[in-house]
Amino acid sequence: MIPATFDYVRPGSLDEACQALASDEDAKALAGGQSLLPLLRLRLAYPSTLVDLGRLPELTGVHDRGDHVFIGAMTTHDEVMRSSLVNSACPLVALTTATVADPAVRHRGTFGGSLAHADPAADLPAVVLALDGVLVARSAEGEREIPAAEFFVDYLESALRPGEILLGARIPKLGDGWGYHYEKFHRTAQAWPIVGVAAAVRRSNGSIQEARIGLTNMGPTPLRARAVESALQGAELGDQVRQACEQAAEGTSPSGDLHAQPDYRRHLARVLTHRAIRTAAGSP
Ligand code: FAD
Repeated sequence: MIPATFDYVRPGSLDEACQALASDEDAKALAGGQSLLPLLRLRLAYPSTLVDLGRLPELTGVHDRGDHVFIGAMTTHDEVMRSSLVNSACPLVALTTATVADPAVRHRGTFGGSLAHADPAADLPAVVLALDGVLVARSAEGEREIPAAEFFVDYLESALRPGEILLGARIPKLGDGWGYHYEKFHRTAQAWPIVGVAAAVRRSNGSIQEARIGLTNMGPTPLRARAVESALQGAELGDQVRQACEQAAEGTSPSGDLHAQPDYRRHLARVLTHRAIRTAAGSP
């Protein structure tokens, strides 16, 4: 289908971009267009103006900030997955990004677009949530920080206010002793996950000291598997870990669709959480 008519602006500065969004409540930011343009073509969205963020160098790149890595919102998935800094300091982000879509989408789609779109079926929100990332937004009024736990509000709804631009996200470096894995169940013809599980695990002497787990597509927003995280504290690799992972669907509310009914998604969450934890912990 052909989108409804819209105006298009490509600001040359962040201030101009904030101004363009603030002056028109029906304007929308345009990043890689990999989610927004299909919505326009299906006429599920009809913004009056698209504010293209493609000329704002402040929004691109990956930066080492000591105890965290800052990933600019307009950094493409391809740049993120190839970044040596992301691979060394926050490997869970790199290895999950490599599972997103296909090379063509990864060259256009952006890290920030994936977060701002707040699709519970997207892979990166659960990762940023599991790692306790902090999102940074800017509007004509100034800058503010939003913890990932408060950013994903509902289905396709983030905590961004009208007129706000996502600048990027801070991803804390977890340090030594952590292992990571992203386990994703998807149809072979498509990369979108039916269910995904992001896991970061600190292991010592055959048991798990700490675990962070984010669930993809198990509710209207990405979720933390808090019950499993608590049960894994001090759990020995083997049966104790298996038992802890049985709680992976607790507190979730997956929807049913053509690909999976809620019960099947709950089953997947348990199985994939166990696999993700075992792999992250380096357990056979
Ligand atoms: P856009 O489409 O440009 O924008 C999306 C939304 O975010 C819009 O509402 C826009 O206004 C808003 N927005 C974007 N950037 C900002 C910003 N800086 N500040 C404020 N608002 C902003 N994703 C997965 O996670 N896993 C997959 O397996 C997967 N498979 C895909 C397969 C296909 C064929 C396609 C087309 C997409 C797929 N995606 C997948 C989605 C892809 O990852 C997109 O990159 C992502 O959803 C949106 O990023 P974008 O840069 O294209 O954002």
